[in-house]
Formats: sequence, C-alpha cells, structure tokens
Amino acid sequence: MSTEQELKQAVESRRNFAIISHPDAGKTTLTEKLLLYGGAIHQAGAVKSKRAQRQATSDWMELEKQRGISITSTVLQFDYHNFQINLLDTPGHQDFSEDTYRTLAAADNAVMLIDAAKGLEPQTRKLFEVCRMRSLPIFTFANKMDRPSREPLELIDEIEQELGLQTYAVNWPIGLGDRFQGVYDRRTEQIHLFQRTAHGSTQAQSTVLSITDPKIEEVLDQELYFQLKDEIEIIEEVAPDFDLKRIHNGELSPMFFGSAMTNFGVQLFLDAFLEYAQPPEAHQSSLGEMNPTYPDFTGFVFKLQANMDPKHRDRVAFVRVCTGKFEKDMTVNHARSGKTVRLSRPQKLFAQDRDSIDNAYPGDVIGLNNPGMFAIGDTVYTGQKIVYEGIPSFSPELFAYLKNPNSSRFKQFHKGVTELREEGAIQIMYSKDESKRDPILAAVGQLQLEVVQYRMENEYNVETRLEMLPYKVARWVKGGWEALDEVGRLFNTAIVKDILDRPVLLFKNQWNLQQVEGDHPELQLSAIAPLER
Ligand code: GDP
Repeated sequence: MSTEQELKQAVESRRNFAIISHPDAGKTTLTEKLLLYGGAIHQAGAVKSKRAQRQATSDWMELEKQRGISITSTVLQFDYHNFQINLLDTPGHQDFSEDTYRTLAAADNAVMLIDAAKGLEPQTRKLFEVCRMRSLPIFTFANKMDRPSREPLELIDEIEQELGLQTYAVNWPIGLGDRFQGVYDRRTEQIHLFQRTAHGSTQAQSTVLSITDPKIEEVLDQELYFQLKDEIEIIEEVAPDFDLKRIHNGELSPMFFGSAMTNFGVQLFLDAFLEYAQPPEAHQSSLGEMNPTYPDFTGFVFKLQANMDPKHRDRVAFVRVCTGKFEKDMTVNHARSGKTVRLSRPQKLFAQDRDSIDNAYPGDVIGLNNPGMFAIGDTVYTGQKIVYEGIPSFSPELFAYLKNPNSSRFKQFHKGVTELREEGAIQIMYSKDESKRDPILAAVGQLQLEVVQYRMENEYNVETRLEMLPYKVARWVKGGWEALDEVGRLFNTAIVKDILDRPVLLFKNQWNLQQVEGDHPELQLSAIAPLER
C-alpha cells in the first residue's frame, strides 16, 4: 500500500470527539457506556474502579484524592465497527475548564451532553462557545430521560433560542421519567424498546419494531404510541431538514435522547455519531490549510501534564497528530526552538495507562515524554518547516498575586512559575507598575490556584502565599497599547499585561465591563487572547 493510501485509509476510519457538559450531567457515565459498547471494557464501573486503584498507587495530585475529583484528562481509544474512536477526555471539574478549551482545539467533533431535567447549564454554554469558535460539529445528547425531565420539544427550543443552534432530532424518546421505554430512530423508522439491566452494567437488550408494525400495540401503551406519533409529526413538519454539510459546519446539531445510566439509546447514539461525525480535519498553519493526508508528520501540543508518575517526575506533552504518519524513534523538528528531537518513547493513551506505540495517524493523540522543551501550542514537524496556528488563552475569572515570602528561594519560585505557566496549569500576568514584580495568577477556578500552590510546595519546594485581587472578568485589547492610549482614562478598570506584554483589562464585574464598552465603543475587547503568531 502506498503511503498516501495508508494515510487515506487511516483518516477515513478515525473519528475523534470530546464531551462538553456541566458537572453531573453524566459525562463519566456516558464515557463508560461508550467504552462498554465499544468493547473496550466488559462491565461498566471498570473505569472508575481503575481510577480509584490508580489513585491509591499514584499520588500525583494528592489533591485529586482528597477532593475525589478528576483533574487530569487524557485520551481513550477504542475500536467499533471498523472505526477507531478517540475520545479526548476532559477534566471533570469546572475549575479546570481551560484544559477542556484546549482539548477542544484537538477535537474534530464535540458531544454536548445535557441533563434533560436541567437543560442548558453555565459550563455547557461556555464550552459551547469554544466549539462554535472552531465551528466544530456538535452532537447533542439529552441524558437522564429515565428521570422526570423537560419535554423534548422544550429542550430543542431552548437550544435553538439560547445558543442559536438548530437541531436535527435523530431519535425521539418514548415516554419520560418512569415511563421512559425507549426511542424512535428516525433514520430507520424503527422503535427500540429497552429492558433495564442491573445498574446498566451490561448492554441493554432491546426489542426493535418498525413504526408501522401492528405488534406495536401489544408492546407499547396506547397513550405513549399516540403521543409519539403526534410528536414525530410535529418535528417532521417544523424541524430543519437533515443536512450533513451543516452538521459538519457546526450549524445543525444531531440530537439524541437517552439514559446513559440504563444504557437506553447509547448504542443508537454511537452508531449515528459514526455515520455523521467528521473525520480528522485539516488545520490552519503557516503553510496554509494542512490536509491530513499531507505525507510528512506534523502536529501540535495541546496539553502538558506533569508528574503523572511521581517516581519519575516526568512531564508528558500531548500532541495531536495533524498530518502524515508518526513512527516511533522519529526525529522531528520543534518549530519554536528550531531544535530537533528524537521521539523514542511515544505513548498511546488509554485512560491513564501509557503503552508504548509504534505508529500514529492524523486524528490520534500521542503522549511524549517532555524533556522540558514543549509548551502549549508548539508545533512539531518533519519535512518543510511549518507552524500551526496555536491555541488561544481563555478569559480567566480569578486573579491573585503569588507571593514568595522567602527571598532565598527566588530561583525555585521563578522556575516553578515559569514551568507551570508553560504547562498551561495557570495563566500569568503582571502589574503595569514595575515595582510590583509578583506574578498575578489568572485562573478559571479556585482549585486551579490551590493546585499551583500545592505544586509549588511539593515540586519546587517553595511555600507561597496568595493575595486575592478583586477582579472577575478579563479582556484583551485588540490593537494593544496604542489602541488603549487612544481611549484615555478608563473607570473601574485595572490594566495589567500578559506574558507577551500585551494589555489586559480587569473588571470587578460584568457590569463594569459593559460600562466601559458602552463608554468606548471604539475599543475592541476580546475574551480570548489574540494568537501569538
Ligand atoms: P459527570 O459529573 O458529568 O461525570 O456525571 P456522572 O457520570 O458522574 O453522573 C452524575 C450522577 O448522575 C451520577 O450519580 C450518575 O449515576 C447519575 N446519572 C448519570 N447518567 C444518568 C442517567 O442516565 N439517569 C439517571 N437517573 N442518572 C444518571
């Protein structure tokens, strides 16, 4: 097989995605069920207990254990119906949502998981915005239909009104809450009635009937049957037509109803997802749009993680393969430093297990032991020099000076701050006032600050102190210092600089921001840092 054919085949058979959701919507449960149907685990519950085991042996992030949360995120890979699926796992805790934003930069599809009783929640909205920025195809899964939930039409309406996202219902729930029995699949015009299994730990058995089969009356109660027919009629009439192109552009979201806990609708979702999801897509670079079948290996770092194995104090760089074939022992170029590096110990990722791999293709993620040279957004390549667009920084919401009370440990303090920043654990800003040299930590959540302090102490041996600042909103100024000078004095605004010396405005609340925007319509503000390159 020629290289081109090999790449083409690899790309066509790969699908990757990340799940975006608000905590508690059921991401862990759905992930487990997808692995169950993908045959990667045989009994649900395995992922969690595995994680628990690992927590017992690894104390990278004693904090994870103390809080019982998952801070780290990796990649789960499994095969299903001749596809290789890469699920880019994201941290469970919203304080680490910046990691999720970055993971979305490596994803080709997103699954928006919502709790059907709650509808859209704040974290989902935020993450949705990041997907929209990237025009990612979004698959919506309304979960927990086995519990009292909102009416499906109401959920569809909310998504359309609030997010401006049209949906295409691929399946439709039959009954809600206690009476939730299954779903109607619009693709095949069949109904699937499920039986509950103990804790949903094995695949749900189902009865499948055509919607026109007279036997329906025997298995489904009259009221539900007529309600279903009515609702199907409504959506056939008012809902937008199926349009794969609009799905791939992120304009139309295939919508599913189900219950991850009882497995209802999970397999139907997976099947339809594979049919509609987009294969690994092209990425923008200094050489233009890079098609995945471009023969040379190229990729970019979207995430760094330190000390997954405390015995080795290692650091792993997660690289999204964009083009070409990655092979073990390959010598690649590191665009930012101009150095070459032999990648002899790549790792394929399954949960937090890291088995060495020999090859990887576009759409895959490889974990590289990081000799300290990689930072978020870095490009690695073979062949002609290329630089990928990079990954923007997202608006932080908590700000604090990080103080080092012990000046004899200045070096370690500086090293720690620099490394944690490069790794993307935290954003760093500085006061405009040169006499205030303490770095300002800019975080998405409180826990992120705690993790920095914890790691400064445990990994760099520096005890630090936090001095909180009273700001909640950050905005980058388009046009930089010049644009800012032109508008003159701003009220209720602090001006700081990011690590590339660009001005960032900090506000105590949304209201102050709106006031400044109102007073200075000429000032262009952005919640996302402009890309470096
Ligand atoms: P995450 O925070 O999004 O990862 O949510 P989890 O997967 O941990 O789920 C949160 C809670 O909701 C857990 O108690 C789950 O058992 C429960 N849950 C998840 N999916 C379903 C579902 O389909 N139905 C019901 N009734 N509960 C669910």
